[in-house]
Amino acid sequence: MNVLVTGGAGYIGSHTCLELLENGYGVIVIDNLCNSNPKSLDRVQELTGKTLKFYEGDVRDETLLTKIFTENEIGCVIHFAGLKAVGESVAKPWEYYDNNLNSTLVLTKVMKQFGMKNIIFSSSATVYTADNEMPLKETSRTGNCTNPYGWTKYMTEQILSGMATAEADWSIVLLRYFNPIGAHKSGRIGEDPRGIPNNLMPYITQVAVGRRESLSIFGDDYDTPDGTGVRDYIHVVDLAKGHVAAVRYATENKGCEVFNLGTGVGYSVLDMVHAFIDANRVPVPYNIVERRPGDIATCYADPAKSAEKLGWKAELGLMDMCRDSWNWQKNNPMGYGE
Ligand code: NAD
Ligand code: UDP
Repeated sequence: MNVLVTGGAGYIGSHTCLELLENGYGVIVIDNLCNSNPKSLDRVQELTGKTLKFYEGDVRDETLLTKIFTENEIGCVIHFAGLKAVGESVAKPWEYYDNNLNSTLVLTKVMKQFGMKNIIFSSSATVYTADNEMPLKETSRTGNCTNPYGWTKYMTEQILSGMATAEADWSIVLLRYFNPIGAHKSGRIGEDPRGIPNNLMPYITQVAVGRRESLSIFGDDYDTPDGTGVRDYIHVVDLAKGHVAAVRYATENKGCEVFNLGTGVGYSVLDMVHAFIDANRVPVPYNIVERRPGDIATCYADPAKSAEKLGWKAELGLMDMCRDSWNWQKNNPMGYGE
């Protein structure tokens, strides 16, 4: 079966393409490369010894999508394509709503025209409200997002679940990711953020490799064991495997289901820094600064529903995540642009 992967050249997309190929799926990618490098797809093909088909273009381009569906027999879509920087979404709300909402609307319009209604969507733990009890279950409260990026994820969930309510032949899987980090163990594909990283692990690895001087830890006065923020970090290869499980689920079940993809374990920022230093024996200078606006103290998943219904569970631990993040960064100090 062929899977159309939108945003397949990106961080999570490239790892998912690799797992799909390893599991015998045909892979077709559409990506406009606005936040990625096509070398990731070359490397996925090198690593697997298999080929995939790449269309460079925008998911909002209905003509291109029609061409892709005409030229290929597609059994399922994984929709990663989207803009994802929280701070940038506050500065450029229109661009975020346009890209993230219109891509989904055009994509599902063309899917309807071709009668192919199986789709996996990249949602986020950011859709949960800040006042929930931990761990977060799929039934925990959602909404009240604090930035346009979060709203695009919340609204897309609404759009897709509404379609499944209206038309019984949709199979829709909404995957709420927690904090993906790490890289493929080969060190050939990984996260390659443009500019200054917003996220913790790419910042740590860029400090370790000498591209940045010191990590700023955003606050040590949260109500957590050491005062720094606690998150559910998940290895990107585990996350990619979760998508293979979701494709299987979508092709066997109708309706709309939401799943958390997390480990169920929370680590603090200081836990992460010390684990990284222990795993890799490299220094990571850091200093404590003010809290970052919009951050919450603690966020981690209850992954029980994914284990029960998708038959998926994260298997890699903190040491694997720290080792593989560093293996990627040290072998590709400038990312794909080396
Ligand atoms: P990424 O930026 O590496 O990948 C997204 C890809 O989509 C990029 O290759 C980009 O070029 C492409 N793209 C963007 N808009 C496009 C468009 N209109 N048409 C075609 N291609 C387009 O990001 P990622 O970390 O791999 O994230 C993938 C998805 O998962 C995103 O939807 C993101 O919001 C979501 N997500 C990511 C995280 C995370 O921490 N990385 C957490 C939760 C959810
Ligand atoms: N963080 C930090 N310094 C950084 C980046 C992140 O201290 O340079 C902290 C952040 O405050 C949060 C955790 O690391 O507690 C994870 O942040 P990230 O941006 O990676 O993910 P988020 O959960 O915010 O989406």
